[in-house]
Amino acid sequence: MTHVLSQAAVSSLGRWFARHARDLPWRRRRDLYAVWISEVMLQQTRVETVIPYYRDFLRRFPTLKRLASASLQDMLKAWEGLGYYSRARNLWQAARLVQTEFRGRIPADFSEFRSLPGVGEYIAAAVLSIGRGLALPVVDGNVLRVVCRWQGIATDIRLAAAKKNVRQFLQGIIPADSPGRFNEAMMELGALVCLPRVPLCGQCPLRRCCFALRHGKTGLLPVKSRKRPVPEYHVALAVITRESGEKGGGRIFIQQRPELGHLGGLWEFPGGKCRPGEKPEAAVGRECREELGVEIAALGRLAEVRHAYSHFKVHLHVFICRLRRGRIRTDRPHAWVRIDELQQYPFPGANHKFFPQLKEYFNT
Ligand code: SF4
Repeated sequence: MTHVLSQAAVSSLGRWFARHARDLPWRRRRDLYAVWISEVMLQQTRVETVIPYYRDFLRRFPTLKRLASASLQDMLKAWEGLGYYSRARNLWQAARLVQTEFRGRIPADFSEFRSLPGVGEYIAAAVLSIGRGLALPVVDGNVLRVVCRWQGIATDIRLAAAKKNVRQFLQGIIPADSPGRFNEAMMELGALVCLPRVPLCGQCPLRRCCFALRHGKTGLLPVKSRKRPVPEYHVALAVITRESGEKGGGRIFIQQRPELGHLGGLWEFPGGKCRPGEKPEAAVGRECREELGVEIAALGRLAEVRHAYSHFKVHLHVFICRLRRGRIRTDRPHAWVRIDELQQYPFPGANHKFFPQLKEYFNT
């Protein structure tokens, strides 16, 4: 009986999706490469943000071959502003591996595809169900919410057990003839109707069999424990100018972050975290001494900006500096650039927040 009910709900969901699916650019191109790009971009990022990036990316790199032959820097430049840069690095590495290990064909086998850098359970299921018709359910935040309400699952959705329960349930009902559309419909329902705060149950194709609606628990499900507050770090950055800090036409020093790790491969200004009790003015001098082997003089504070990453926040203190003593020594790729050349280098989003002040400083 439950199975029959579920099948009726799946049909109802399919009809709803046919009528209400948004016209999104990645729904027009269904080959594995394009689906893969869209799913990676959509992880942790809003649909409206992704749309222009997706279009531009496929213009620059229309095929996997083109992506694999691009430099990491070109790839990061195309990704600049989307955040979560490890996604971009993994995608670029995966594209190169597909070229070398799979003779340029994206593997349609779950285990092989899953073995590529950055391809987790979610990406593999989404790409192979939509791009190849494999009956693999996807479980993202929207789907978790919908199924927990629909089926009355009260496990904390921060726990892996919740995902497992939901996946098991979906595995039993995903239609073999259209798994990709089913997955998309579930995600779309979460995005448009089964909203986090106030679900629009009157418009929902699952309303006749929804546990939460029937039992008045739409405000209680899904169960989600509180997130621990994220730490905030104070970080001092040095914009070192070459011409003794004189305004106008000066070049500034930038360096590339190591490829592995947070924001790997992006460019940055020297600096680092303030130690407990250390003032940013002191931290910027110490960091330049330790990192570059030079003494600098901080001429003044250029900007203060805040930026949030997924697990911490930063409060940046940016100083205009000049070299006082020593020659810069570093093993990392680095460059002295004019202000109008900065745009050729991919920088983290936090840095873009003070670029307007930087431009103003150098152009006035
Ligand atoms: S009926 Fe309401 S709570 Fe249940 S799945 Fe639909 S929108 Fe969500």
